[in-house]
Amino acid sequence: MKSFKQLISLVMVVVMMFSLAACAQEKQTAAEEPAAAEPEVKSYADTIKWDAAYDVVVVGYGGAGAVASLTAAEEGAKVLLLEKAPEGQEGGNTKYAAQIIPAPTDREKALTYFKAIRGGYDNQSDAIVETIVDGSMAIREWLTAHGAKEIIEYPLIEYPEAPGSDGISSVIIDEKEVFTGKFWSLFKKNVAEHKDNIDVWFEAPGTELIQDPESKIVLGIKVDKDGKTLNVRAQNGVVLATGGFENNETMVENYTQMPECFSKGAHYNTGDGIKMAMKAGADLWHMSTLSGPDLNFKDPNSETTFGYALQLYGFNKKSIIFVGSDGTRFVNEAFFPRHGHINNSGTWVSMQIPSPAYAVFDEAARLEGPIYPSWSKDSSEEIEKG
Ligand SMILES: Cc1cc2nc3c(=O)[nH]c(=O)nc-3n(C[C@H](O)[C@H](O)[C@H](O)COP(=O)(O)OP(=O)(O)OC[C@H]3O[C@@H](n4cnc5c(N)ncnc54)[C@H](O)[C@@H]3O)c2cc1C
Repeated sequence: MKSFKQLISLVMVVVMMFSLAACAQEKQTAAEEPAAAEPEVKSYADTIKWDAAYDVVVVGYGGAGAVASLTAAEEGAKVLLLEKAPEGQEGGNTKYAAQIIPAPTDREKALTYFKAIRGGYDNQSDAIVETIVDGSMAIREWLTAHGAKEIIEYPLIEYPEAPGSDGISSVIIDEKEVFTGKFWSLFKKNVAEHKDNIDVWFEAPGTELIQDPESKIVLGIKVDKDGKTLNVRAQNGVVLATGGFENNETMVENYTQMPECFSKGAHYNTGDGIKMAMKAGADLWHMSTLSGPDLNFKDPNSETTFGYALQLYGFNKKSIIFVGSDGTRFVNEAFFPRHGHINNSGTWVSMQIPSPAYAVFDEAARLEGPIYPSWSKDSSEEIEKG
């Protein structure tokens, strides 16, 4: 039996050798004959006239885009960082942020906490929560490695009643104040230090992902620059980090049910990345999960609505009520919404602000501070002007 098998194997080897020999023979014959000109098979990428080529293209120079660019550059990639705003106005909401960085101190407790506060969202998987927790556990080390001089504990716990909240903390860097821009400056400094590997183009919005029509692989991105549309090749991917849709009136209407809501940060976030991703076939999730709204007066003299967080710094809570157009109150004024979230009979949801909404306050409240940040201390000058 064994020898029969061996024989079969031998025959097979011989047959294979013969086949190879026959193949070589065929090639030889083909080489001798004049080759018929075969049409060159081009990939879809080869058919496009590329204006520039990089390993990675990152769209949006806020915090996410800065860190994505740095991470790729530190791995040796040649990166193009695209920013829609003019130079000096980059930074998105990251620049306006209070600069408080979530940095839990205990992994297990943090997992318990974040799983508890996701509430009924069962499509926010454990894997996502773990990624968030592990990333934020590593943040102190990342900040130090990237030049933060001092890591200052800033124990901000938004849901102290949630299990695991004693494993939650946050940090600020280099100055004991918030809203210092320190976190953002650190990003900018690091991006500048990697200028050999990171090119930054300002006033250069990404407009459309370029995909292979068959495989759907993203090959690059269309960019508006100096009045032209450029095709930029991205050998290893495009990172969309274009922030939210807070300056896109239509999207605000569609997704928040609060058409009179205004951004209190960046001006250039108009949901471009969301639209590009959708066009490329992506689905969306949690579009109604907002960081807000807060109750602020929109300062007529200010470029941004951020300024006077009514319930945080402003009027004495006992001296003001908020009402909608029918004169009824819509919120407990004594409660400061947790990033816009209020407790709706046991479920935390974004507070709904009716449109229009009015603040009704008494004389004690008026005397406590300016109604708008740019107004006189007791608003008397503006009241005088009518
Ligand atoms: C007032 C305020 C205070 C906050 N405080 C904190 C805090 O203390 N701690 C905290 O963790 N979070 C805070 N946040 C939230 C935090 O700022 C954001 O979650 C974070 O900055 C988002 O970063 P990002 O990079 O995704 O977006 P952004 O920082 O908004 O950056 C997006 C960038 O993309 C650019 N862009 C848009 N479209 C295009 C396009 N088509 N092509 C190229 N570029 C484009 C924009 O110009 C912008 O520069 C705060 C937010 C605000 C508004």
